Amino acid sequence: MTDSLTDFLSAMHDLLGPDWVNTAPDTLYRYGENTLPGGNRPPAAVLYPSSTAEVQAIVKAANRHGVALHPISSGNNIGLGTRSAMQAGQVVVDLGRRMNRILEVNDTLCYAEIEPGVSYQALHDELVRRGNHLMSDCTSGPPQGSVLGNAMDRGAGYTPSFDHFGAICGMEIVLGNGEVIRTGDGGMDSSRMWHVSKYSFGPALDGLFVQSNFGIVTRAGIWLQMRPPAMKTFHFSFPDDADLGDILDLVRPLKLTNLVPSLFRVANDLWLIAEHETHPEYARTQGRTALSDSARRELQARHGLGAWVASGAVYGASAQALDPVVDRIRRHFCKSGRARYISDEEADALPGLSTAKSVFYGIPSSQELRQCKWRPGGGLTTFTPGTPLVGEQALRLQDLARAILARHGLEYISMWVCAARFARGLHQIVFNRENPEERQRADDAYLELARSFAEAGYSVGRSPIDYQALHFGQLSPEVRALQAGIKDLFDPRHVLSPARYGLS
Ligand SMILES: Cc1cc2nc3c(=O)[nH]c(=O)nc-3n(C[C@H](O)[C@H](O)[C@H](O)COP(=O)(O)OP(=O)(O)OC[C@H]3O[C@@H](n4cnc5c(N)ncnc54)[C@H](O)[C@@H]3O)c2cc1C
Repeated sequence: MTDSLTDFLSAMHDLLGPDWVNTAPDTLYRYGENTLPGGNRPPAAVLYPSSTAEVQAIVKAANRHGVALHPISSGNNIGLGTRSAMQAGQVVVDLGRRMNRILEVNDTLCYAEIEPGVSYQALHDELVRRGNHLMSDCTSGPPQGSVLGNAMDRGAGYTPSFDHFGAICGMEIVLGNGEVIRTGDGGMDSSRMWHVSKYSFGPALDGLFVQSNFGIVTRAGIWLQMRPPAMKTFHFSFPDDADLGDILDLVRPLKLTNLVPSLFRVANDLWLIAEHETHPEYARTQGRTALSDSARRELQARHGLGAWVASGAVYGASAQALDPVVDRIRRHFCKSGRARYISDEEADALPGLSTAKSVFYGIPSSQELRQCKWRPGGGLTTFTPGTPLVGEQALRLQDLARAILARHGLEYISMWVCAARFARGLHQIVFNRENPEERQRADDAYLELARSFAEAGYSVGRSPIDYQALHFGQLSPEVRALQAGIKDLFDPRHVLSPARYGLS
C-alpha cells in the first residue's frame, strides 16, 4: 500500500468510523469479481458513506491524497462489470449500503426522490405498500439493481417510461473537485420545482454525468407513472431467423403512431429458452462449437417458440377498452402471414414470456438472470449495438453477428429493444469463464463484433468495462478532446473512476 493510500484510509477511518471502511481480503475479492473475460479487479478498499456530506469529504480527501475512487450504487451491473472498479487498486465507494432511502413519494405530481441505493424491488414494494396507485419502470435484469445506478449508465426498461435517464429530473452531485451542485431548477436554492421541471435557466447539465466520470450523484428525482387500471401484453412468434427484418418494419408504424406505448422486445429463441435450459451439447463438444442448428430447432419445437418473438404491451382504463387495440395490433402483425399470436394469458406458459410480462407491468423479476447459466463457468459479456428501425439493416447486422459468434464457437443470444426510430440489440455472450481458451474466444468475439459493427457505422450504447477504451477510441478526436476538457474542469486531479467510458 502506498503512503498516500495509507494516509487516505486513516482519514476515512476518522471520517466514517472503522465499520464503514473495509479492506478485508474476502470483501475486496467480492467487489473485484465480475463476469467479463478481462479478469477481476480487486479494489484497495470499500467505503460506505451515509450522506452527501460524507461523499463530499471522501472526494476532497481523495483529491488531497491523490487516490482514485469508483462509485457504485448497488453494483449489479452484470455483463458490463458488476461491482468492479475500472482498474484494480481503485477505492470503491459503495453508496448502496447506507444511502438507500426513498426520501419522498409525491402522489400528486407522481415522482419520487431517491438515494443511490434504492433498488427496483424496494421502490416497487414501497409503491405497492402505499396503495399501488403509482408504478415505476424496472429492467428485466437484477431486481436489486439500483434505479439511480442504472439511469447513470443509461439503462432502459419496458413500460412507457422505459428511458431511465429520461425519467430522472433534478440531481444532486458531488463533483470530482469536491463541490456539490444541484441540476435543473435545483440550481436555485429556494426552488420548489426541482423534481418537476427538467429544463431550467441556462444549459441542461444532467446529461454530462451519465456514462462519464465527472461526479457522484447522491440523490435524484425520478418520474413515476400512474398505475393504469388495465394492462395487456401481446406476443408474436415468427418461425425463421430471416423474419427479423419484417418484424422491425412491422414494429415501426406501431411505435411512430404511439399505438404501442411500451418498448417492443424482439427476442430470439435462445434469449427466451436460456432462462430454462442449459446448452444441451456442451458436455459433448466441450463448448468448442456453437449450438448446432438441429439442436436449436429441437429446443424451439420443445418450447413451442419460433426463431423470434416480438412482445409489447398496452395500458388503459379497462380490459374491454384494450381488447380492440390488441385486435388491431394482431391484424397488423398477422397480415405478414408469418406471425403466430400468443395472448397475454398464454404467455405465462412459455419460456421468457412471463418475464417479459412482468417487466411490462413494472414488476421486477430475477428469471432472466438464469441466462447466465446457459454455459457453465459464469462468464457473460454484453454487446449493445444500435440500428435505425429499418428491417433490412437489422437483418444484415444479425447475419454479421451470427457469423462472428459462430466462428468463435459461441451462440447468438439476442434481443432487439425497439423505440420509434431506433432499436438496440442486446447480445449476451455467455461463456465458461473458468476455461481460459473459451474465455479468450469470448474476448476475441467481442472485439471482432465491436470493430466490424463500427466499420459498418453502428455504435454501442453501454459497454463492458473491458472495452470502454476501445469504444472511446471510436469517437472523433474533437469529441474525445471536448470530453477530456470537461473532465479537467470538473475533476482536475482525475480522482473519479479514471478510465470509465475511456476518460482517464
Ligand atoms: C439477464 C440480464 C438482464 C438485464 N436486463 C437489463 C435491462 O432490461 N435493462 C438494463 O438497463 N440493464 C439490464 N441488465 C444490465 C444490468 O444488470 C442492470 O442495468 C443493472 O441495473 C445495473 O446495475 P446497478 O443498477 O446496480 O448499477 P451500478 O452497478 O451501481 O452502476 C452502474 C454504473 O454507473 C455508475 N454509477 C452508479 N451509481 C453512480 C452514482 N451515484 N454516481 C455516478 N456514477 C454512478 C457506476 O460507476 C457503474 O459504472 C441486465 C443484465 C442481465 C445479466
